[in-house]
Amino acid sequence: MLQQVNGHSSGSDAQGRESLREDLQEFLGGEVPLHQLDDLTKVNPVTLETVLRCLQARYTADTFYTNAGCTLVALNPFKPVPQLYSPELMREYHAAPQPQKLKPHIFTVGEQTYRNVRSLIEPVNQSIVVSGESGAGKTWTSRCLMKFYAVVAASPTSWESHKIAERIEQRILNSNPVMEAFGNACTLRNNNSSRFGKFIQLQLNSLLVPRDHQMTGAAIQTYLLEKTRVACQDSTERNFHIFYQICKGASADERLQWHLPEGAAFSWLPNPERTLEEDCFEVTREAMLHLGIDAPTQNNIFQALAGLLHLGNIRFADSGDEAQPCRPMDDGAVRTSALLLRLPEDPLLETLRIRTIRAGRQQQVFRKPCSQAECDTRRDCLAKLVYARLFDWLVSVINSSVCADPASWTTFIGLLDVYGFESFPHNSLEQLCINYANEKLQQHFVAHYLRAQQEEYAVEGLEWSFVNYQDNQTCLDLIEGSPISICSLINEECRLNRPSSAAQLQTRIESALAGSPCLGHNKLSPEPSFVVLHYAGSVRYHTVGLVEKNKDPIPPELTRLLQQSQDTLLKVLFPADPEEKSQEEPSGQSRAPVLTVVSKFKASLEQLLQVLQATTPHYIRCIKPNSQGRAQALHREEVLNQLEACGLVETIHISAAGFPIRVSHRTFVERYASLRRLHPRAPPDPHSPSPDEGHSEGSPHAEQATLRALLQDILHTLPALEAATPAAP
Ligand code: ADP
Ligand code: MG
Repeated sequence: MLQQVNGHSSGSDAQGRESLREDLQEFLGGEVPLHQLDDLTKVNPVTLETVLRCLQARYTADTFYTNAGCTLVALNPFKPVPQLYSPELMREYHAAPQPQKLKPHIFTVGEQTYRNVRSLIEPVNQSIVVSGESGAGKTWTSRCLMKFYAVVAASPTSWESHKIAERIEQRILNSNPVMEAFGNACTLRNNNSSRFGKFIQLQLNSLLVPRDHQMTGAAIQTYLLEKTRVACQDSTERNFHIFYQICKGASADERLQWHLPEGAAFSWLPNPERTLEEDCFEVTREAMLHLGIDAPTQNNIFQALAGLLHLGNIRFADSGDEAQPCRPMDDGAVRTSALLLRLPEDPLLETLRIRTIRAGRQQQVFRKPCSQAECDTRRDCLAKLVYARLFDWLVSVINSSVCADPASWTTFIGLLDVYGFESFPHNSLEQLCINYANEKLQQHFVAHYLRAQQEEYAVEGLEWSFVNYQDNQTCLDLIEGSPISICSLINEECRLNRPSSAAQLQTRIESALAGSPCLGHNKLSPEPSFVVLHYAGSVRYHTVGLVEKNKDPIPPELTRLLQQSQDTLLKVLFPADPEEKSQEEPSGQSRAPVLTVVSKFKASLEQLLQVLQATTPHYIRCIKPNSQGRAQALHREEVLNQLEACGLVETIHISAAGFPIRVSHRTFVERYASLRRLHPRAPPDPHSPSPDEGHSEGSPHAEQATLRALLQDILHTLPALEAATPAAP
């Protein structure tokens, strides 16, 4: 028989009895105070409301982690809780004979994965999928788990190997401040919001020390950096942290060198006056140094970033004549930006203001002055291009610094810190990609979990019929299926490269995919859009600018300009083409197939799922108790929305429809048999029906009935046992 019993960390008799009482009361349907319910599968009945009440009670009692079957729910405390993440507690979970018996914690998940990869019989790779909306605590959770592994997977065998382990662990931890400085920003939802998705593979080695894995390296894969933020920020939000860090943290000499005088105003640096803990230039520099990015290279990076800030200050004024290019309103910004990016000034200005087009049979080159809006777009595109390449380059440098030699690791634990389901008043391509990823992950979760349960029950010989769970294949077919789906239609518009309006795209999607039950009705929207009924709720996607975003066009002149830079870093980011073909923007049909944003994202998502499918997955759902980031405040509506969005109640139903309480036969006998011996069962009441009545001996029903009687017995003996046992001192 399987049963899982909540555990408590103390080994004292009194607590042991208390835990036993809770287990039994629960099993027999007795009341346990809500805040003590460690597993949401035990709330009765399982509804959004009861789940919320339980989480609320636990949050009030400063209990932030709760199991939900195979998932761990993590409520953001929004306050420092150092004792919850101390190395001592990490070691306690690591040393516990059965960590799942301790209070629910991310360390239970961490330890479970660590033990699973340690299995000598068949080491199997593990993954932890951390999800939740922005500000819910995903990055915090991943960081804590990385620290946990750094503590428990450090090898204590010899001084030398210990030193190596420490170095690599420290380097892996150092990747966090660097990636956060360049990839995180202050948004309305989270002061330290990750603007990219991350999968980090922690590589472990069991060859040197068979019983204890050692962390030997890591590999980081990132997804969908929000590069538009470099050139375009909401007035209430900020650019990536690193820009504020250099402006605040530069020394007097550096200010001179990077042309960043105190108090200089940059249009791409909104809200500079806010002081946040993220503004820590020294930490970023130190971490970069540990990762092998030396001071001159850092200097190079920061100088290029200052160049981008000056680029953002370039404004154009219409010349009033279509044949004449726009005028820059401030020559100083152009000059400084060119100087810092080590680009020739005139070609920079020319590239921003003039398009080159090849047309006609002879492929003649035409030069067409851009409108003011086009100049702005090209300026922004230049900044996005540099920043995105810089970010990718940083990730590759970090990877080469932390990645282990393939021969030195045997297994890995993957940590996925991925953006949760998003639904805003205005949703575009970014949300479509993010929600598509969430659909994929949900499908993976349900498929994996149901399969795991089914296999377990089959082994146990238990009768069980599966509840109807929400299969989101239909929604995935709508988004990515073949031959026709939302993705294929958007891609086709890009491929045809024809002028089409947002309204036309809406009509195409609605007519071509009308048969899909996951395409919602779209009658009321004044703007062209379409509605997708996701497993987590319906989302309206606006079609204005969707095709253009999917193309993400980079005028080839911009790349060519950057290839002319004399800057060592930019030379690495934009190497000259060995066989430079004619790259002027073609005007006809001869364009080579473009890899669209959606296609690239789809490919990387498929790769990720392949990796996940080859691992044993674990799930942590982070919940944000309120959107103000206040401690001790749980807003019902906000939490309800998140519970709905992550399909938690459904997950619990799947778990609860199975056998929510699990304990191995052996543990059960070890734990309870002595009680029965101490207090033999009272003779049965001749008037009450026999527990096994109507069931043939040995049938599952008979076994359950016998077990119930046994448990009833034990519960009755508890008061006597308590009276007979002196209280613990
Ligand atoms: P996400 O990555 O989901 O967007 P973060 O992990 O950045 O969210 O968390 C947002 C903020 O919430 C953090 O900056 C931190 O202040 C707070 N926070 C998150 N988890 C915890 C925790 N376990 N304990 C204390 N504060 C936390
Ligand atoms: Mg984050």
